[in-house]
Amino acid sequence: MLSTQAKEALGPLFPILNKVRLQFLRLKLAGNKVLCPCCGSKYSEFAPFGDSRRKNAWCPKCESLERHRLLWMYFENKTDLYTKPHKMLHVAPETIFMSHFKKQKNIDYHPVDIFPHLYPAGTQYFDVLNHNEPDNSYDVIICNHVFQYIEDDKTAINNLYKLMTPGGWGIMQVPINGKTVKTYEDSSITDPQERLKAFGLKEHVRYYGLDYADRLRAAGFNVRVDDYTAEFSEADNYKYGFWKGDAIYYVSK
Ligand SMILES: [Zn+2]
Repeated sequence: MLSTQAKEALGPLFPILNKVRLQFLRLKLAGNKVLCPCCGSKYSEFAPFGDSRRKNAWCPKCESLERHRLLWMYFENKTDLYTKPHKMLHVAPETIFMSHFKKQKNIDYHPVDIFPHLYPAGTQYFDVLNHNEPDNSYDVIICNHVFQYIEDDKTAINNLYKLMTPGGWGIMQVPINGKTVKTYEDSSITDPQERLKAFGLKEHVRYYGLDYADRLRAAGFNVRVDDYTAEFSEADNYKYGFWKGDAIYYVSK
């Protein structure tokens, strides 16, 4: 899987090249040692992913990564997402979830982003920092891997809190540096290469530490930092291609 910039640079060629690559990987990784909960496919292992060629990471059928597969099972087994009526706001909608959520009769689904053209058809324009939606509009809010791109993450988190109905819940994942407690940010670092070094990606404006939950709590959310991977054996963590210890940030109001 390539970065957004690389996809844009390849233009119309990207979907074709990606399809060929995925077909090749499906053949190369034929087997039954791992099972993707998102698409039900089995392989000898998941494909490597990213610049570091992280092992057992990328499903060559549905393109899920570790975090998608973990959340997929979390939604099914740990939330009422599929068992009660919900009005859901999904910011920066992951393709794999979007196609699934759209099909659910109990979910009044609203996929949104500030760059809707980068997401599947049906995604509406929405600026988390500046919108006109009334308070208490959504009882489920999913907003994953968004805040690390936003300078004023405090306003973004506050706005999502206001949009959530009392009794509602959400998932708000960000990349976390598990080795540090304190979030690292420095607004004087603006050069893309310097940001890459400091925050892990050229477009990121900070690298959250373990104090990320405090930022969510400061907005008013109740926060449960849930290590769902701990409920699985070593063998099952491998089988589903999870990233062991990858905590889920479950918020509620
Ligand atoms: Zn899959």
